[in-house]
Amino acid sequence: MDKQKYYITTAIAYTSRKPHIGNSYEIVLTDAIARFRRLQGYDVFFLTGTDEHGQKIEEYAKNAGVTPKEYVDKVAGEIKGICDLLNTTYDKFIRTTDGYHEKTVQKIFKKLYEQGDIYKSEYEGLYCTPCESFWTESQLADGKCPDCGREVKPAKEEAYFLKLSKYQKQLEEHIENHPNFIYPESRKKEMLNNFIKPGLQDLCVSRTSFKWGIPVTFDDKHVIYVWIDALSNYITALGYDPDGSSDLYKKYWPANVHIIGKDIIRFHTIYWPIMLMALGEPLPEQVYGHPWLLFGEDKMSKSKGNVIYADELVNRFGVDAVRYYLLSEMPHAQDGSISYDTMIERYNSDLANTIGNLVNRTVAMVNKYFDGELICNTDAEELDDGFKADILSALPKVEKAFDDFRISDAVDAVLAIAKRSNKYIDETAPWALAKDETKKNRLATVLYNLVESIRIIAVELSSFMPDTSKAILAQINTDIDTYESIKSFGAIPTGLKVGTATPLFARIDVEKITAEIQAEMAAKAQNAKNAAEIEGVAKIGIDDFAKVDLRVAEITDCVPVKRAKKLLQLTLNDGTDKPRTVASGIALWYKPEELIGRKVIVVSNLKPAVLCGVESCGMILAADCAENDVKVIFVDDLPAGAKIR
Ligand SMILES: [Zn+2]
Repeated sequence: MDKQKYYITTAIAYTSRKPHIGNSYEIVLTDAIARFRRLQGYDVFFLTGTDEHGQKIEEYAKNAGVTPKEYVDKVAGEIKGICDLLNTTYDKFIRTTDGYHEKTVQKIFKKLYEQGDIYKSEYEGLYCTPCESFWTESQLADGKCPDCGREVKPAKEEAYFLKLSKYQKQLEEHIENHPNFIYPESRKKEMLNNFIKPGLQDLCVSRTSFKWGIPVTFDDKHVIYVWIDALSNYITALGYDPDGSSDLYKKYWPANVHIIGKDIIRFHTIYWPIMLMALGEPLPEQVYGHPWLLFGEDKMSKSKGNVIYADELVNRFGVDAVRYYLLSEMPHAQDGSISYDTMIERYNSDLANTIGNLVNRTVAMVNKYFDGELICNTDAEELDDGFKADILSALPKVEKAFDDFRISDAVDAVLAIAKRSNKYIDETAPWALAKDETKKNRLATVLYNLVESIRIIAVELSSFMPDTSKAILAQINTDIDTYESIKSFGAIPTGLKVGTATPLFARIDVEKITAEIQAEMAAKAQNAKNAAEIEGVAKIGIDDFAKVDLRVAEITDCVPVKRAKKLLQLTLNDGTDKPRTVASGIALWYKPEELIGRKVIVVSNLKPAVLCGVESCGMILAADCAENDVKVIFVDDLPAGAKIR
């Protein structure tokens, strides 16, 4: 019998900048589902990729001084790198700048136009001329352009529209007849009551205000706007073509599920199904809009300096620990939050103490008491039945959790049987059995049961921690890892020789790592602050800068200033005949004798000022290096009097 197909997708990531960990967990979530479905025996196709067009990218590229294509190549590379780093098993990575995608999108647009579902009209809105952007009333900031703060004025622009209104009734019926189409339930009500039932307005699907997009073939003033371009990726990736689609498309479409963030659920449950209806293609079975993972209380943002990237976490904790953590904290209905504290805590308690310890001591005992050999010589006791039933009870829970996208529940179910196995060790006390020669068979039975439970746990962990799963199976020296084999107890054959006990997860020294992380976070926050300051400083022209006369000067004398703890009085040779006097607020950091003979940079045309009785003619340059640390800029190699420009 042919395997049942399962097509799963993530949203395609916008290539505006490298995504932080809060935006990277969708790929891990989707990967866990894809791996679990494969384990169940499905023929899975897993698609991810990048959304690369639009005005924003055009602007980012311009600011970076590169072409839009160069810009998206770099960011798409970073995004793909993160998917690979996180050990995700996508079957295809689509980029909306891929040639086949662009061609198909053009064909889709043309088809919809020719059949009358797309029509040309005028887009009316509030226009900002310098930004070349249309805004709606609600997008304005204090009645002005939200980007540049200038006045906007009502304007019209020629544009193409998709007839959403024509399909409104059909969509409403589809959603009502397919209760699982929009998931979770709360989102379905929101879409129906807030957007669809009040009436759909036709959607503007082209722009003339920027160039970085797929051109409309029959009207090249226009580029195709994001909806038709980005959403179509789910079918172009498989080889959809209005003139005849590929076998891959015929095999896998419609998608079993689109996994997306809750913020784009409207596009996926209104625009996308209507596009498909207009194309005469079947709709995806399900759209799951997941909540967000926040860092601590805050949404991650560069300006707060609390942005964390996947590679930083992986470098510190390892890829499986990061996957485990993200999946175990995966929110289902409300936004969830992650923090270093909970990550370290779960690492030590779940991975090192529970799973790692279980495997390590079991394998060590088999080696110690039986020379590594498992003997299935059943001297069973009643408590074994309860233990086996508990171990087998996890799988139905894991299945249900995956069906409901409650991935953290699936993780919990597996962790629970690892804890149960540790409890079984305490209950049976193998070390006590080992002291009694008559209990040899009992000891063998207990250890067999433990190794078999470890095998089941390892197979169930394979969706979450694929490398760890393999490492555990290698330690117990088995390749019995099918889905069938974990539905009942006892697949391991007698006589199996286990490997050597090797720790899977080393405990983390909480104090040490916390100190390291705090130092790193503080440095990041400082960098963010510096960047914001630089950004905030008014821009000056080269003419403005030329007004400042900077000279190299040698400090020929230096004395403290009476009644001014912070000031030093410097006498400078600035290359002229006349000694120059400058008062400088550096007494906390320098002693007079350290300064005499050294050369500094002086602002020589500063208006003189009297500071604590000293007439200061100019000032010397110094850097704020940290909070309360100032360092004078010394230029001892340069000749006094040299002009700096
Ligand atoms: Zn503007």
